[in-house]
Amino acid sequence: MIHFNKPYLTGKETQYITDAVVSGKISGNGKYTQLCQYFFEQKYSFGKCLLTTSCTDALEMAAILINIKPEDEVIMPSYTFVSTANAFVLRGAKIVFADSNSENPNIDSNLLESLITLKTKVIVPVHYAGIACDMDSIMEIAKKYNLFVVEDAAQAIDSFYTGKDGIKRALGSIGHLSAFSFHETKNIISGEGGMLVINDKQFASRAEIIWEKGTNRSAFFRGEVDKYGWIDIGSSFLPSEVIAAFLWAQIEYLDKIQKRRKQIWSQYNEGLKKNEKDGDFKLPQLPDYATNNAHMFYLIFESLEKRNECIARLKNKEIYPVFHYLSLHKSPFYSNQYSGEDLIFSDLYSDTLLRLPFYYELSDDDIKLIIHTIKNE
Ligand SMILES: *Cc1c(COP(=O)(O)O)cnc(C)c1O
Repeated sequence: MIHFNKPYLTGKETQYITDAVVSGKISGNGKYTQLCQYFFEQKYSFGKCLLTTSCTDALEMAAILINIKPEDEVIMPSYTFVSTANAFVLRGAKIVFADSNSENPNIDSNLLESLITLKTKVIVPVHYAGIACDMDSIMEIAKKYNLFVVEDAAQAIDSFYTGKDGIKRALGSIGHLSAFSFHETKNIISGEGGMLVINDKQFASRAEIIWEKGTNRSAFFRGEVDKYGWIDIGSSFLPSEVIAAFLWAQIEYLDKIQKRRKQIWSQYNEGLKKNEKDGDFKLPQLPDYATNNAHMFYLIFESLEKRNECIARLKNKEIYPVFHYLSLHKSPFYSNQYSGEDLIFSDLYSDTLLRLPFYYELSDDDIKLIIHTIKNE
């Protein structure tokens, strides 16, 4: 039996969790939280990093920080996870869904200007499969219309974008704010977990307050104020040290994890190339400006029927691939609020994209079996 995902444990998790527990400091923002945050700030040249209990929470923090009010409009792809939209809907925003590219499920940046109105406040590019969106165009448009950019970088840890200036920047370091996920289906994990990256300094001190239930507790513990109290809205967005200790064990193995995941990705790509040539399906395409963080390997079939055939063939061998998002503009929750155009590519990916099993411990033999089964050999 080959499942779609299997969380990888480095073996150090319980050791660091024990350390956190024994040290007596198990609430948030202790040693392990700070180790993790500092690591990401240094390694990827991120602005201030704050661990959160999920990427969903990081997106909710972003919506609060940007002061989203009822009637504000937020542009994002329809082909994304519900949290990308929910975070802004919770604050009353109207979601303006954009279509995906024809080459990959990322937002089609050529459509953005036509979707901007006087009410538009934010663009949320989602780096699908960890493959960069067209960030130069998105940032230029945001600048021109005075909008914020929140990167949904949930799948994009350790992935990069090379801009027209030739500089290679980590995804998550480009937008005003960015959100990452460490959910057990992502490259590095803490069960549930996430991180908000604050690249625009104007948000830094308020972010810490919102993170700590609307109090200036963090400044108090640094000795910057002599008492702490309620000074803004906020919630309980910070994870406990137990979660951060788990994440730290994963971070230590990040390079090793990435190396293996990239091997798996290449094996799929090499093994299935010929079928792409024969027109059986399309393989992931990386724009020149994007790197591959091997978050996911997907196939795009010609039709829903062809995808179903492949799923059935794999299930017959107890291999469990999964499809992915269903266009949010057609969802039971939002479809009656959607008044925009048809989103052809978003619907196309909803019907035809299939994700293959992908996890650290997937063996070479597993991969061979999956490839043979897909090829019907
Ligand atoms: C995983 C994911 C999320 C949600 O992450 P959580 O940490 O589970 O809240 C949001 N957006 C995208 C694109 C994701 O892949």
